[in-house]
Amino acid sequence: MYIVLLGPPGAGKGTQASLISEKMGLVHVSSGDIFRENLKNLTPLGKQAQAFMDRGELVPDDLTIAMVKDRLNQPDCQKGALLDGFPRTPAQAEALAAMLKEWGLTVNLVPYISVPEAELIERLGGRWTSQKGRVYHVKYNPPKVPGRCDVDGSPLFQREDDKPETVKNRIKVYLQQTTPLIDYYKEQGLLVEIDGTKSIKEVGTDLLAVIKKLKK
Ligand code: ADP
Ligand code: AMP
Repeated sequence: MYIVLLGPPGAGKGTQASLISEKMGLVHVSSGDIFRENLKNLTPLGKQAQAFMDRGELVPDDLTIAMVKDRLNQPDCQKGALLDGFPRTPAQAEALAAMLKEWGLTVNLVPYISVPEAELIERLGGRWTSQKGRVYHVKYNPPKVPGRCDVDGSPLFQREDDKPETVKNRIKVYLQQTTPLIDYYKEQGLLVEIDGTKSIKEVGTDLLAVIKKLKK
């Protein structure tokens, strides 16, 4: 089963993907996490992506598509994946469809987590991230020990691109380049809107309900 989590930056895609991937045994594939890992390891891809990420722009489609294809080709993704942050442009969506088609598969479901802009800014401003990409929030999801990940105890950090100026640009980029995917997937009958303003737990319950319905 291939599920695409759609929604603006800060909607809760990463938070929900971590919860659902454990419950459903689906691999969580976050394009942002893969870019950040490349950046940390100073790989050629990381160096190419850095300037775009720092400005809150999208990394060019050719680089992003090649990177995600590579990830989805790994054995652990053969039975499905929970995609978080990809696709973000119509070209990426087409590339994903073409790739799955080669395997005789399709995207099965696109939950669209909707949250108004003012709330996104507050969420991203208070986001703390672990080395492994687990996310916390000072107010809405605080770690048990301040500054430490609940799962592995690693130090939490604030992402460079969560600064207010960059957040504003990321939301603008999302509105311009990613929102066309809402209609794209709606036309294919795959889109299910989820109210992302509810609590983390409630959003998780709603998401699991739509995924389980699909499995029946
Ligand atoms: P995305 O992956 O869509 O960018 P995240 O999952 O990283 O978003 O969530 C952004 C921030 O908002 C994090 O700090 C997270 O703890 C917090 N958050 C996520 N979902 C909710 C929610 N339903 N209510 C309040 N805060 C949330
Ligand atoms: P995220 O972790 O999803 O918020 O992504 C962080 C940053 O990584 C984005 O602002 C982009 O610069 C880059 N990025 C992640 N996914 C994509 C994608 N699908 N297409 C282009 N750039 C991406």
